[in-house]
Amino acid sequence: MTGQIGDIKAKCPSCGETAFESSTGSEPKPEDMLTCCGCGRVWRCDDLAATLAPEGKKLVDEMARNIVENFNRRK
Ligand SMILES: [Zn+2]
Repeated sequence: MTGQIGDIKAKCPSCGETAFESSTGSEPKPEDMLTCCGCGRVWRCDDLAATLAPEGKKLVDEMARNIVENFNRRK
């Protein structure tokens, strides 16, 4: 994983690194934990997204809503 949260370019608030490792491998969810490849700090996907531009936050909200909708559709 290389710094992408959905369509958003993620950046570590601590060191500015843009590469992250996700334990899930693909399709990170807002509650997933991402490990910074630069400083090794672990961030919640949505916490990380909250540090981005408001535009990015909006995209994450949209992504979260899509996940919920997909989940509801599966019932
Ligand atoms: Zn970092």
